[in-house]
Amino acid sequence: MTTDQRSGATTDAPAIHARMVIGGRLVDAADGATFEIVDPAHGRVIGTAALGGPADVDAAVAAARAAFEGPWRSMSATARGRLLARYAQVVRDHVEELAWLETRNVGKPISGSRGEAKGVANTFEFYAGAPNKLHGQTIPVSRPGLDFTLREPIGVVGLIVPWNFPMVMAAWKLGPALAAGNTTILKPASWSPLTAVRLGELALEAGLPDGVVNVVTGPGDTVGAAIARHPGIGKVAFTGETTTGQEIMRLASANVKKVSLELGGKSPNIVFADADLDRFCAESPYAVFDQTGQDCCARSRIIVERSVHDRVVEGFVAATKKVVVGDPADPATEVGPMVSLRQRERVLDYIRIGNEEGAALVCGGGVPDDAALADGAYLLPTVFDRVDPAMRISQEEIFGPVVAIIPFDSEEEALRIADDSQYGLSGSIWSRDIGRALRMAKGLEAGVISVNSNSSVHTEAPFGGYKLSGVGRELGMHAIDLYTEVKNVFVDLRP
Ligand code: NDP
Repeated sequence: MTTDQRSGATTDAPAIHARMVIGGRLVDAADGATFEIVDPAHGRVIGTAALGGPADVDAAVAAARAAFEGPWRSMSATARGRLLARYAQVVRDHVEELAWLETRNVGKPISGSRGEAKGVANTFEFYAGAPNKLHGQTIPVSRPGLDFTLREPIGVVGLIVPWNFPMVMAAWKLGPALAAGNTTILKPASWSPLTAVRLGELALEAGLPDGVVNVVTGPGDTVGAAIARHPGIGKVAFTGETTTGQEIMRLASANVKKVSLELGGKSPNIVFADADLDRFCAESPYAVFDQTGQDCCARSRIIVERSVHDRVVEGFVAATKKVVVGDPADPATEVGPMVSLRQRERVLDYIRIGNEEGAALVCGGGVPDDAALADGAYLLPTVFDRVDPAMRISQEEIFGPVVAIIPFDSEEEALRIADDSQYGLSGSIWSRDIGRALRMAKGLEAGVISVNSNSSVHTEAPFGGYKLSGVGRELGMHAIDLYTEVKNVFVDLRP
């Protein structure tokens, strides 16, 4: 890829051409096809990427298999950990470049892109310590003898990621997959191929053997589907839309692949009258409007005790109006454009639906009135009050900067409303009553809960969803389970 290695901030857009990384080489698609990459902040084509297809997936699987059976499998766990640590350092050395690439590719504010690139390095650092700490157990079985387990890598694993957090979603999968000794094929979303390709290149720079990290770019319904159904791939890890996850599960059944899925969400932010309401109002707009709402953990439903409803709405709206919407290249920007005009149309449609359903629009609801932003996919942070839990804007994942405020009268009702969702990814509880907060935390049907905080993600702790939000847990040592087989060995010790 031809970008400025120091700042990555080149505006020499047509010079960007992202090749795939297969078997340690940068390659174009087998048939030479390419697709255009659009900067959503300005609506401009900024380059092209290889439009891979099933033949390229075959080539990547062959390369990954060769690496698995060759240098990667024979390397000691300690040496593998050292290489992961080196990978983390190389990523850290390229944070600026990766951040600018991401900002130009998906319109993420540069401050957020920097944070995400550092998050990749942090994730690799965490998993760099894991390889020589993965071990089996001895088990006291009934027969006379010795029984023990081995934890083994699966082999070649496919990693399919979305466009909203292109770098960290890749790192959450690459880190544990590599730590456990697998080789990988990463497929980024078509909206966001650039940093994935760069991460593939940086793996080579860090000294990972050829074929350990392969990156195949191209459409989900061809490249993604080929990965999901490929007989040479033993596991597929996916983050994206629930319906896509269901399709991947179906395709993966062909060779009974192991499947882990991080899917959609409609996360509740539950605020009781005894909470620190000032802190809730100051912090919670970012819990839903960060990433322009394109976040599976977005706290897109505020469920508020009726006695403080008016005060919370007033404080939340006041804080929302201070959120800085603007050009993602400006360090002061907190909310950039959506990933595409098409996504914005989808969200504007939900705003129309909310109005038709009878919710009260109290903030935002349209595009910014700023000529400088006219060509980008911008949308104002939008707040609907007096939402009925049965409304579509309360039930469906909007994946944009829209929040629904729903009042409640009792703890039981708050829990009922919060759990009245097909999703179960994350949720927050705000209360100074520790007993109540813990009752709610236990009652919520979701995988990631926070109390008096909107924080969902900790590199060291498990992350994943209940219900239609997914299968399996990423991050922490839980993620290792997704990338290992357990083998039981019994040894008869009779003389
Ligand atoms: P998609 O499901 O459309 O795409 C995700 C990835 O899957 C992309 O790489 C896509 O490729 C690929 N893909 C699409 N169709 C197929 C297929 N038939 N077989 C295999 N792969 C396929 O999701 P989005 O990219 O639109 O991301 C937004 C969605 O992801 C939201 O619903 C959001 O909630 C969810 N999400 C969930 C997260 C979580 O951790 N739970 C985190 C982030 C997002 P291509 O781009 O080429 O179509």
